[in-house]
Amino acid sequence: MTVYCLGSINADHVYSVPHLPAPGETLAATALSQGLGGKGANQSVAAARAGARVVHVGAVGADGAWAVEQLAAFGVETSHVARVGHPTGHAIINVAPDGENSIVILPGANARQDTGRIAAVLAEAGPDDTLLLQNETSHQSEAAALAAEHGLRVVYSAAPFEIGALSAVLPHVSLLVLNAVEAGQMGAALGPVEGPEIIVTDGARGARWRFGGQTLSVPAFPVMPVDTTGAGDCFIGSLVGALDRRLSRADALRYAAAAAALQVTRPGTADAMPARAEVEAFLARA
Ligand code: ATP
Repeated sequence: MTVYCLGSINADHVYSVPHLPAPGETLAATALSQGLGGKGANQSVAAARAGARVVHVGAVGADGAWAVEQLAAFGVETSHVARVGHPTGHAIINVAPDGENSIVILPGANARQDTGRIAAVLAEAGPDDTLLLQNETSHQSEAAALAAEHGLRVVYSAAPFEIGALSAVLPHVSLLVLNAVEAGQMGAALGPVEGPEIIVTDGARGARWRFGGQTLSVPAFPVMPVDTTGAGDCFIGSLVGALDRRLSRADALRYAAAAAALQVTRPGTADAMPARAEVEAFLARA
């Protein structure tokens, strides 16, 4: 049982700024923190911390060796992360004192996936396995179609939301995960979506899972959040990790909500993903 994650690997540069820059303005930042980011990397780390075997499928440039080392240090298998002749993806994240942010992303190597490479990885996969993907790499629909052909569960995190990307993968998706805003955008563009099971997360209001005419709901666990960045990635990676361990839908949903509740009480994204033992101890106390 393996989770294959076709996902972005980014260098995040987070600048604290006195206010978000206006057009034409030059602004001095007051602090900088840098580290591993990207929805793909975050979700891979969360799934590995939840106890799954995770094989990350992705690409970095010549400047990305440190990111691959960090992924490996979190327990993610990285032998299918290619080195390509484009810079590693990166994000410039400006954060104002009120928490408002603005983000510029260079997809770089994330947009340089390769069908042959993806096919070679998925050739070793089967119906016990999962393909997890997000909208931050190229080749999403090719990978989803191949995975569905091999009988894998295909889990799609429709973020950043883009209707064209979603429509292309949708026929191959078994489980679609969106936040409430993205679910609203999908509904406005496509109307009711039949086919995949759908999970909608809604921050401190919890999450709900719709499948086969039924709906399961989980409230968010009451915690004091310090940084909610990456809550969605933590929820999805943890959920996939829990499903990979054959937990029921209800137990996997509860596990993911507990993991995300712990994650928002810590600063950071990948660094803040809780380990399985921590989540189980939290659930035992809840
Ligand atoms: P982000 O873009 O910040 O990564 P998101 O919008 O994709 O997040 P959310 O719906 O905000 O995802 O959060 C995902 C899950 O994390 C929620 O369904 C909930 O279980 C948990 N969560 C988020 N915020 C909180 C909170 N303040 N307290 C407890 N749990 C939370």
